[in-house]
Amino acid sequence: MSEPAASAAPTTSATATSTRGSSARNTAATRVAPLEPADAELFAAARLRAARLQPYLATAVFSLVPVAQPGLGTFAVDRYWRVYVDVAVAREWGVEQSAAVLVHEAHHVLRQHHDRAAACGVTVDTHDLWNLAADAAINDDLVDDRLPLPDGVLPRHLGLPPNGLEEAYYQHLLEEAAEREQPTCGSGSGGAPAECELGDEPEESGVDGLDEVDAAAVRRAVAHDVTAAASRGECTSPGLVLWARDLLHPQVPWRHVLRTAIGRPVREVTRDPHADWTRPDRRADARPDFPRPGARHHAPDVAVVVDTSASMDRPLLDAAVTEINGLLRRNGVRSVVVVTCDVESARPQRVRRLGDLVLRGGGGTDMRVGIAAAAAHRPRPSVVVVLTDGETPWPASAPTGTSLVPVVIGAHAPLPEGPGITAVRITAPT
Ligand SMILES: [Zn+2]
Repeated sequence: MSEPAASAAPTTSATATSTRGSSARNTAATRVAPLEPADAELFAAARLRAARLQPYLATAVFSLVPVAQPGLGTFAVDRYWRVYVDVAVAREWGVEQSAAVLVHEAHHVLRQHHDRAAACGVTVDTHDLWNLAADAAINDDLVDDRLPLPDGVLPRHLGLPPNGLEEAYYQHLLEEAAEREQPTCGSGSGGAPAECELGDEPEESGVDGLDEVDAAAVRRAVAHDVTAAASRGECTSPGLVLWARDLLHPQVPWRHVLRTAIGRPVREVTRDPHADWTRPDRRADARPDFPRPGARHHAPDVAVVVDTSASMDRPLLDAAVTEINGLLRRNGVRSVVVVTCDVESARPQRVRRLGDLVLRGGGGTDMRVGIAAAAAHRPRPSVVVVLTDGETPWPASAPTGTSLVPVVIGAHAPLPEGPGITAVRITAPT
């Protein structure tokens, strides 16, 4: 946590270093001494409560390895998921607040604050500012979720807007160069290592800390739990949901994804000529007794289904339309079938280019109707692109003989998956 409780016992170097005995280094499993039974009971209760406060974080909370640290005055976490616990302070906080602090520490390691600090160029002179920025970003989400933190800095305490990224907060604090408190969350937060940190890498997975491989597995498990909770409509902070989606579907620039998703099937159609007996083979003269068909290249047919009742961000939609028009022109597609799809109907029409789309607003559209109408059009389109805000049911797979490219405009709706489906998310115009 960022601020030790005012009533916490002062740190004594004797107790702070007592668990670092070199004799423990030889036996990995015993390097982290187990908590005393009464302390273990309190920690177990706090951990169980933490897993109830944010159930989708249960895997992370139960992966933390407790290390007793009398006199620390707070909790801290190192980059190997060891959480240093001052049990006396935990008793003052009680189970509920200790649980909230455990969730806070889990967020530090889950969000990879240690690595992100390094990527941001944080130095020994600036890691307190990073720690503060990271604390503000975490606590912002936790307070939103009504977690009973005993204390903790919030973005507004630092003159920062809510819902920001750690990196942006850090940059702001760096430029401001004001005198700030010095938080003590440990190396797991990307801040200064706590004096008591064991320092060395864990040797036995899960017993004395998590190495990078185990940590990555925990992050993926939590990311799945977060997205599952969000899709069930449970309370999850938007920041955490975005984190989970980024982790499970690393962000590739959308133009690149769109180019591949539309360009590949279109090029496949134009590349493979089909036999055409109505046109003689240009080399038929060489073998007049052996008739051969001529070759004709298919003109790729592309259909674009537009969710006209969607609430889509206009600049993002315009960026998508401009990119699709350019892609089609470069690939020799002279016209497209546009299916405008709203709650009442799906109407296909052939146009030379995607023009100004009329969006009516409102919801309740089922894009499966528009996709079916596009796939039923003849000649059958090789690619069906769908422009939508994503608030719609999706087919389990692409229609037979077509590639389905759902272009979801906005950050929140889930991306559809299935055979023949390549979804693209657009959250920024560039
Ligand atoms: Zn912290």
